[in-house]
Amino acid sequence: MKLQKKTSLLAIFLSGSLAVLIIAVSLLSFRQFSLSTAQEHVRSVAEVVRVSLTEAMINGVIDKRESFLKRLAEVEGLQVARVMRSPEVIRQFGQGLAGEQDVDSIEKRVMETGKPFFGIVTREFNPIFRGTIPFIATQTGEPNCLQCHNTPNGAVLGAITINISMQHLQEKALLTIGIMTCIIILFAALLTIFFRRQMTPVMITAIEVQKVAAQAKDGNFDGRIQYTGDDEMGDISRDLNQLMDHLHMNLGAITQNISQLLRYDASGNSNLITTTTEMVESLLEINQFKQAVEEDRTKSEVYFRIGHILHEQFGIQFGTIYEVSAPGMNHMKPMVVDGELDNICKWCNPEILFQANSCRANRTGHVIDSVEDPLICSQFKHLHENAKYAHICMPVFHSGTVGNVVQIVMDRAHGRLYQRLLPFMRAYLRESAPTIEAKRLLDTLRESALRDALTGLHNRRFLEEYVGTLEATAKRKKHQLSVLLMDIDHFKEVNDVFGHDVGDTVLRVVAKALAGQVRTSDMVIRHGGEEFLVILQEGEEPSGERMAEKLRMAVAALKIPITNGILRKTISIGVANFPGDGEDIWEVIKCADIALYEAKHSGRNRVVRYTPQLSKG
Ligand code: GH3
Ligand code: MG
Ligand code: MG
Repeated sequence: MKLQKKTSLLAIFLSGSLAVLIIAVSLLSFRQFSLSTAQEHVRSVAEVVRVSLTEAMINGVIDKRESFLKRLAEVEGLQVARVMRSPEVIRQFGQGLAGEQDVDSIEKRVMETGKPFFGIVTREFNPIFRGTIPFIATQTGEPNCLQCHNTPNGAVLGAITINISMQHLQEKALLTIGIMTCIIILFAALLTIFFRRQMTPVMITAIEVQKVAAQAKDGNFDGRIQYTGDDEMGDISRDLNQLMDHLHMNLGAITQNISQLLRYDASGNSNLITTTTEMVESLLEINQFKQAVEEDRTKSEVYFRIGHILHEQFGIQFGTIYEVSAPGMNHMKPMVVDGELDNICKWCNPEILFQANSCRANRTGHVIDSVEDPLICSQFKHLHENAKYAHICMPVFHSGTVGNVVQIVMDRAHGRLYQRLLPFMRAYLRESAPTIEAKRLLDTLRESALRDALTGLHNRRFLEEYVGTLEATAKRKKHQLSVLLMDIDHFKEVNDVFGHDVGDTVLRVVAKALAGQVRTSDMVIRHGGEEFLVILQEGEEPSGERMAEKLRMAVAALKIPITNGILRKTISIGVANFPGDGEDIWEVIKCADIALYEAKHSGRNRVVRYTPQLSKG
């Protein structure tokens, strides 16, 4: 129930109760007063009658008493004044007058007991107060009753009944009560008005506080209380308004700052609290993600984590995370496809892998969104107006250039939902970018340290790093490795005759020829100056010698162009097997070196398989 209504009801209830109480008390008092007044009145009249009758007896005019009583009954308010004789008096003086003989039960009882009777005898609209009072014989009074009456002292001589109308008293009472009721109603009305006036600021403030608080509960702190009276309510209003100002300003500033951090426009959201809470939660999650990414060991782990977050946090099932090559190389490589580490170009035309500029997001550095425009990128495989799938491609910048393109693919019907989530996804991508960039740089550095700059082949350091894995894999798979150590024949001559540059050219051409002959799973390493090491991943049947022969012939067949014609070179090769010829690869390489020495020694341009006898020789 509203406060105003409660106040009015309370005032009405209090006034009503007061009115009922006052009227009841007044009625009761009035009644008591009326009865006692009437009783006194009756006693006085009875005494007057007694004295008059005694006087009449003494004067011998007792027979005239009827006219006296008649006149008495004519007094205003007095209705009946009737006397009657007791049996003793009747016995002595006879029946008395006609009107004195009809004794009713009350009079009879009064005369028998000698006790007076007072009471209301007629109610309804004309209440009558009746008093029946006995006349008692007394010898002490003046005159002495016993002088005339032959009765003992204290005997009842007769009685008198007097009826008094109380109608005029009743009318007066009603009038008084009517006036009192009017006064009370007037008082109650004034009280109610006064109360309401006093309560108005309280009620106005209460209603406004309720409104402002309800808005604040929903995160809207724009509400203010208008009442600014100079009382307690005014103080409450001012304090609450200040609180709202404070919340609006500070929470607004926090939201704005977080919005900037997330690059998310939160101005359309009406609930400042939930918006801010959600954004803070997002920031926290993004920060946790950043920490996890920084602790990831490899670049692949980071890419996998991004794919996982996109799936778990944003419900994205499909899409590709591309890695864009260094500027100028114009390559792209899929790293994660549909949440799995994979290199398949599933959602785009594979042309983009070698023509990275044909990827619109990479070329423009803008978000490419086919939710709005289904035909925006010609490289998307599901390209037509009513395609089921839509894609959004987000470029991720590494030091000012696009380092990754993250493509999400969704059911076109859900496109708008993902558009709204874009700022949050991009915040994750931004946080992962420095780590990816650093890891890519490290990979590049490491790769260049493990490669020979002249030939582009792996170097001996690479072998040192990789040898453990190589041995373990061979042992686990029970595979053999063929180790081919080769050296260009009379290479020193090339340098001496044609110069160092031609020597370098020969090294490059031979290296390329060797790499072109082996499978991708095999390894070609520049082992030293003009020495190369080829390690073949074999099955159960080693094919080292056969392969070595193939390589020897390939090199021998090379026509190396030089300034004044063509140069031909040959190589000598020593072959050994792991684990057959040694406990570890280094031991096996030594065996291959012994075989190579034998090949050189026995005329060059040939292949020699290591045998233990060679060691002895
Ligand atoms: P052999 O048939 O016995 O192997 O005779 P060789 O002339 O090849 O003799 P050796 O293996 O001793 O000669 C190696 C030469 O390779 C010596 C060195 O100057 C040259 N060399 C080593 N590294 C490079 C390089 O990077 N570039 C050039 N141009 N020459 C190199
Ligand atoms: Mg050599
Ligand atoms: Mg040589």
